[in-house]
Amino acid sequence: MRAALLHHVHQLADDDLPAYLYDLPGLRRHAGAIRAALPQRVELLYATKANSDPRLLQALAEHVNGFEVASGGEIRHIRGLLPDAPIAFGGPGKTPAELVQALDAGAERLHIESEHELRTLTTVLGDRTADVLLRVNVPVAIRSVALAMGGGPSPFGLDPSQLDRCLHIIAADGRIRLHGLHAHLANGLDARAHLALVDQVMGWADRWAHHRGITLSEVDIGGGMGVDYAHPRDVFDWPTFGIGLRRTLERHPDLTLRIEPGRSVTAYCGWYVTEVLDIKFSRGEAFAVLRGGTHHLRTPAAKQHNQPFEVIPDDSWHQPWTRPEARDEPVTLVGQLCTPKDVLARRARVDRLRVGDRIAFAMAGAYAWNISHHDFLMHPHPTFHHVDDADTPIAGACAFQTA
Ligand SMILES: *Cc1c(COP(=O)(O)O)cnc(C)c1O
Repeated sequence: MRAALLHHVHQLADDDLPAYLYDLPGLRRHAGAIRAALPQRVELLYATKANSDPRLLQALAEHVNGFEVASGGEIRHIRGLLPDAPIAFGGPGKTPAELVQALDAGAERLHIESEHELRTLTTVLGDRTADVLLRVNVPVAIRSVALAMGGGPSPFGLDPSQLDRCLHIIAADGRIRLHGLHAHLANGLDARAHLALVDQVMGWADRWAHHRGITLSEVDIGGGMGVDYAHPRDVFDWPTFGIGLRRTLERHPDLTLRIEPGRSVTAYCGWYVTEVLDIKFSRGEAFAVLRGGTHHLRTPAAKQHNQPFEVIPDDSWHQPWTRPEARDEPVTLVGQLCTPKDVLARRARVDRLRVGDRIAFAMAGAYAWNISHHDFLMHPHPTFHHVDDADTPIAGACAFQTA
């Protein structure tokens, strides 16, 4: 991996920096391996909001069953790129116009988030039909979660107490077909914790459906498969997850499960490459100031972690003064923003880091550029580069490599 990464980083011109480098062959391989680890009766949707780069989406289209979208903008974006891809429209706060847009786009599923939303749908349907899942904040006990989306009070999904009212609305309206339930409850779980969550959701859904004499044909268990930025090689254990889901399906012969991961699909295929502009020591601590920063790669600020990185030495130095460097010590990597929050990695140990060396931040393929505040301070935007199938793939990081 390192040799391939070096090769691609060296191909970037100084003027290209900072740059996003996306490894398309690595992404294809990773997504293909995820698909292969899942039983046939699990449908794999990609959560577009994790990274909506057009070429990533096109590469993914070959390996997923569809795309989960959460806005009118994402609907338009996917339709423009992939006219026939199945889309599932989720997310809170859908406007009437967005519901119309989803229907016009032929959305395969609508994930209904509230009774009000369902009623709004009935007013815009006209003589069309809609295929829906009811998103429920299933009462489950979730252990050790990075970001809990449900279980407790939540703006996401329906409170279980509201479900019966929705069933009545659907029963009275011949145009709405209920396929089942949706529950995206947690982010950052490992495979075993996620399977435990699936068990809780399925147990609850079974009891609920049984009481009402309904058969669920579909349950969407959301995304949130964990990505460990502190241990990049601890990749979500898709084979174990697939085996667990197969057991769930054996107990439910007529059920289709759907999942909609985002981060765990694209995180590994993206790199943010930049260079060291300055190195200084403040009260004994080393700081490296990089071109760019969290206005391009907000992930470490948003998740409060150190973004993993590789130093790519550049031996050219043409100034008459001594090249500033840090050697065998912890260095805090910051960006160009005038805020103490612009930190990409805090007190990370380096063997040697010099002004002019390049740095490639790994795991920058999800919730990275597209969640960043690009225009704060008005620095230039990064350039974007896609390693193609004709090139050497970078990603050792992209398939499963659990030690
Ligand atoms: C964000 C989101 C996802 C994807 O979550 P990841 O953590 O990126 O896997 C899936 N479903 C819903 C409803 C979401 O809001």
